[in-house]
Amino acid sequence: MKPFVPKLVYFEPEALSYPLGKELYEKFTQMGIKIRETTSHNQVRGIPGETELARYRNAKSTLVVGVRRTLKFDSSKPSAEYAIPLATGCMGHCHYCYLQTTLGSKPYIRVYVNLDDIFAQAQKYINERAPEITRFEAACTSDIVGIDHLTHSLKKAIEFIGATDYGRLRFVTKYEHVDHLLDARHNGKTRFRFSINSRYVINHFEPGTSSFDGRLAAARKVAGAGYKLGFVVAPIYRHEGWERGYFELFQELARQLEGMDLSDLTFELIQHRFTKPAKRVIEQRYPKTRLDLDETKRKYKWGRYGIGKYVYRDEEAKELEDTMRRYIEQFFPGAYVQYFT
Ligand code: SF4
Repeated sequence: MKPFVPKLVYFEPEALSYPLGKELYEKFTQMGIKIRETTSHNQVRGIPGETELARYRNAKSTLVVGVRRTLKFDSSKPSAEYAIPLATGCMGHCHYCYLQTTLGSKPYIRVYVNLDDIFAQAQKYINERAPEITRFEAACTSDIVGIDHLTHSLKKAIEFIGATDYGRLRFVTKYEHVDHLLDARHNGKTRFRFSINSRYVINHFEPGTSSFDGRLAAARKVAGAGYKLGFVVAPIYRHEGWERGYFELFQELARQLEGMDLSDLTFELIQHRFTKPAKRVIEQRYPKTRLDLDETKRKYKWGRYGIGKYVYRDEEAKELEDTMRRYIEQFFPGAYVQYFT
């Protein structure tokens, strides 16, 4: 697939006083993309569209270039100590995506140009914990790889972390546009993960993202560039023929990665889940989705902030977990399964 190009770009005036802001302004002007000004990246007005749905779709192809003012990093992630904020929002249209509820009425894509401030803050966190390792997750609120061909912020973050003693970086993507990242000086401190799924899930629920084959080809390149490689199988979804579908996924993955050094390969397994607010949003934005959001078939799990989620019932979840672990054992006997949740 072609890399993402925004249809409309907004700039905060202050962003233009940073080198990356200037560079992006020139780039988008040369590309002939419509540019507007916004006082704040948190309050972008005037995204075109007659209906809410049309505005949502247009917002997903709108890029906002701003300055990140809140430098405190979120620290509530299970697989990393901190989320490093390089971007917010994504151009993908995955029906189940949790950003639909977490970003609410701001689905446009924000990128931040004050990278030095962000890296200085990351360094502070690293220093506080040293000599313990501090892990940063770069894809909590966006699919950063999918936007990075425009900004190269992720590339800079990879090189920044690569130069630290105690920092580590991780992120996950559904995009294949990795070429500019292959020569980054990562020094083995970045884990590059791809989100993968059965063909059924990718074809039905992940429009606007790279294909199965595109992601696998990119994973091969990334492994070849010496990055630590990982796969996030998510959301694991019980569609008709799921056992066959996931078997084919692992079989094809093994075939594509043949001959690569996979001595440090990780898998993360996440079953499909949804909340009531998410269900409402999904039904509005993707009214024709085949995603099964029937609460009566699920188990309710209490969550933080009083918003519980619907996961598979215990025996169904167990069956998913056992099946995935069996396939991984069969095709990737040396790999490490970090968790099933
Ligand atoms: S690629 Fe990831 S962040 Fe983007 S819409 Fe899909 S699930 Fe959401």
